[in-house]
Amino acid sequence: MNDLQAADTQNEGDSVVNARTFVDEVKFNTELRKFYSGHNQNSKKSEWTDEKIKNVIKMIENYNKAKVLGRRPTDKEYYHAKKYDVMTFSDEKVLILKRKSQQDPVIQVVPSSKYYQTILDAHVATGHGRRDKIIYDLKDKYMVPVLAINIFLQLSKTCLSKKSFPKTGIVVKPLITDDFNRRGQVDLVDFQSSPDGEYKWMLQYQDHLTKFCFLRPLKSKEAKEVAIEILKIFLEVGCPNILQSDNGRRKHRKLNSLHPCQRGTRHCCFQFIVCQV
Ligand SMILES: [Zn+2]
Repeated sequence: MNDLQAADTQNEGDSVVNARTFVDEVKFNTELRKFYSGHNQNSKKSEWTDEKIKNVIKMIENYNKAKVLGRRPTDKEYYHAKKYDVMTFSDEKVLILKRKSQQDPVIQVVPSSKYYQTILDAHVATGHGRRDKIIYDLKDKYMVPVLAINIFLQLSKTCLSKKSFPKTGIVVKPLITDDFNRRGQVDLVDFQSSPDGEYKWMLQYQDHLTKFCFLRPLKSKEAKEVAIEILKIFLEVGCPNILQSDNGRRKHRKLNSLHPCQRGTRHCCFQFIVCQV
């Protein structure tokens, strides 16, 4: 296993752990119990317990034996043998849905004790997929009732896929810039916790297209000091059409208040700097 695969496995592991903490297995089974306790044993929606699966497997085996022995199968045996089949996976007998041909997928009837793990695996395998993705993932492999998937999802309201992120902040809509000096970004970096002598701030100015960057130490973030440094940069490389600052809202407001024009055109950039100096 190379490092990347190892990292992948690690991520997958984290993902499962996350999903597990978001959907509590005990709560899931409690909800499932509540649902099934409202149904009687003969209902079509009765629970596929481990015991019921064992019984059906037995009935199908009896049905097959009856055919060989020339005995007439019971109605129950006949009924189940028409709908289900038995397969052996690694020495374990499992109940599957009857297939019309060899090409049909093998769909295993999952006992309710394994719903949680089966749904969890599908949920994680589909990148924390919701109802339809889980159903699609399971449909050719496992028979799990939709109600169990619904219970799982009801309990996973806070799962990764649903985690809401603040509408403003970290993720900024990408801006497309076609030329040098079309757009310049100015930000102040706070070095108050590790000042270099009297320099406690750093001005960072970056051209949006080329990423060419200027760094200037500042003693304070006062408008005058900032303006002098920006002016020096503009005298060196020219002034951008748009001067922007969106490194955090507070700074934005501050620079806007320094800046006479919200749009920050070249003309008012100069005006602003000239005024401050
Ligand atoms: Zn999830």
